[in-house]
Amino acid sequence: MGRITWYGHACTLVELDGVNVLIDPWITNPSSPYRSVNEFIKSVTDVDFMVVTHDHGDHVGDVLELLKHYKNAKLLSIFEIANQLGNEAGVLERVIGANIGGPIKLGKLTAILTPAIHSSIRGNPTGVVLIGPEGSVYHAGDTGLFAEMSLIGELYNVKVALLPIGGHYTMGVKEAAKAVELIKPKYVIPIHYNTFDLIRTDPSELKSKVAELSIQTSVIILKPGSHFEF
Ligand code: ZN
Repeated sequence: MGRITWYGHACTLVELDGVNVLIDPWITNPSSPYRSVNEFIKSVTDVDFMVVTHDHGDHVGDVLELLKHYKNAKLLSIFEIANQLGNEAGVLERVIGANIGGPIKLGKLTAILTPAIHSSIRGNPTGVVLIGPEGSVYHAGDTGLFAEMSLIGELYNVKVALLPIGGHYTMGVKEAAKAVELIKPKYVIPIHYNTFDLIRTDPSELKSKVAELSIQTSVIILKPGSHFEF
């Protein structure tokens, strides 16, 4: 069984085939049930890998502090960001600097960094697909809608897609519903909304838009800190 826990904003823990991957680890975001990294590491004791999709502060989040606590965890990011964060944390031996488009080994899992239509201080912004025997999970990072999302669905048979819906910096609900139509996941979980006023959005609107498009995808709305098993 796979399990996804959403901590608010883009911060997500994906447990797949016994491998725990923490994506965009802004644990202390305003929607998170955790007010400190210390509180978080007491409840989530095992993290094998972390992924940073791009180097905006709300995605790099608490990664430097978390790398100190999870002493065996490796960090996957696009080459330039991986090196920068590895240097800052003094853990260059634990970073996996990669690039967009092909398979990357993450223990028993395979990861693919995908394009994301967004900006980044270093390198290119990305999303990530995690592929395991229990299915694949696509976390889109921060992105606008792009037609090649259909290829991500076609190539990696996405079971769960995590898509930003807050608008302003990323897709809004209308664009995310179109993304669902392109990717055709079994489940979609909206993320990157309601963290602050500029991205205030009602996630139930995604349900209505997906229904309007007659898409066979279940929309799973999580409360920060809650999880979904698949
Ligand atoms: Zn961003």
